[in-house]
Amino acid sequence: MDFDVVIVGGGIAGASLGAEIADKRAALIVEAEEHCGFHATGRSAAFWLESYGGPKVGLLSAASRPFLELPPQDFSEASFLRTRGAVHLSRDGWPEMDAKIEARRITRDELERLIPGIRSEWQFAVLEPGCADIDVAALHAAYLRQFTGRGGQIATSSSLESAKFADGRWTITLADGRTLVTATLVNAAGAWADDVAEKSGVGPLGIAPKRRTVVQLKIGRSGLKDLPLVDDAAGTFYFKGESDSSIWLSPHDEIATDPCDAAPEEIDVATAIDRFEQVVDWPVERIERSWAGLRSFAPDRLPVYGFAPVQHPFFWCAGQGGFGIQTAPAAAKMAASLLLGEAPDPMVADIDPTIFSAARFA
Ligand SMILES: Cc1cc2nc3c(=O)[nH]c(=O)nc-3n(C[C@H](O)[C@H](O)[C@H](O)COP(=O)(O)OP(=O)(O)OC[C@H]3O[C@@H](n4cnc5c(N)ncnc54)[C@H](O)[C@@H]3O)c2cc1C
Repeated sequence: MDFDVVIVGGGIAGASLGAEIADKRAALIVEAEEHCGFHATGRSAAFWLESYGGPKVGLLSAASRPFLELPPQDFSEASFLRTRGAVHLSRDGWPEMDAKIEARRITRDELERLIPGIRSEWQFAVLEPGCADIDVAALHAAYLRQFTGRGGQIATSSSLESAKFADGRWTITLADGRTLVTATLVNAAGAWADDVAEKSGVGPLGIAPKRRTVVQLKIGRSGLKDLPLVDDAAGTFYFKGESDSSIWLSPHDEIATDPCDAAPEEIDVATAIDRFEQVVDWPVERIERSWAGLRSFAPDRLPVYGFAPVQHPFFWCAGQGGFGIQTAPAAAKMAASLLLGEAPDPMVADIDPTIFSAARFA
């Protein structure tokens, strides 16, 4: 039980970074739950949207796109993306878009063709055609497969309880009393990132979990599956087609919470439906299911990739907010080069990793 690298957390962050380093380091993922992907990774709304998260996050999203669209054959024979486009709506004026992102203003006529039944007050709309669904389960599974295929090991139902650094090695104690030894400790613990840092004697960064709710609604009309992602430029809802007559809808909630197995609250589900009914005249027939997950943000809402500015090798891979899936391929390449001390992969050679460094909070 002596490793070069132990990664805490088997969500998309830990799995993708693990997959990038497992052929060069003896690596282990420790995951507290019975299976990897139980928390944020298994609960996302599963879209790639370049404008999401701002221009700096957009660097990682854009760099990830070719990989997600056409992955290497030995990683996946199928694309992870299915393009559907996004429409950003406003009642008050044209939504602003970064000039680097492909997007165009659309007329009310075109808007009505794209979203039949849209209410008349929504006069301003911008189409971002590149928005795509991500097959999150397939992407996560492919990363775990690559990780183990390259010799990485996964220990589920294994929760880090404490980690102590002495004589050049970390000794990790798990909740059931087992111990592990590693040279480098990677913190990819999602909502628990600060908790894992504190249990390792490293100062927390203020990674804050925020609950977000999604509800799947049965709608009394058909032809919804290929609907664009529709969002409010002011950030009060988004929805997209799920099946011919159902949609996924979120009230865009962002409720501060302790790390936990998040569950939807009735008030957030009701708010979502109320906002939705102000957008389109479609009859809501019933709630098919609802869920919630935690999106975890650093104080400046940028992710954190890099060694903590401390004496011992503690590597942050945290704060992926609401963009951890769509940025995963590029983020993992960038984090791997930082962790291994190697030149960056061509995918991320043009991205300055210091934007995301843990030292920016020092
Ligand atoms: C409702 C919702 C919608 C979203 N929509 C999108 C979207 O459309 N597109 C997008 O790109 N992103 C989206 N996201 C964000 C995305 O899901 C996250 O950024 C991403 O999943 C974070 O991955 P992670 O691996 O850091 O965290 P997680 O998947 O939460 O993994 C962290 C893991 O660490 C484990 N862990 C914690 N503490 C310990 C410990 N002490 N010992 C061992 N293991 C531990 C946990 O059990 C957990 O499995 C959404 C998120 C939510 C909640």
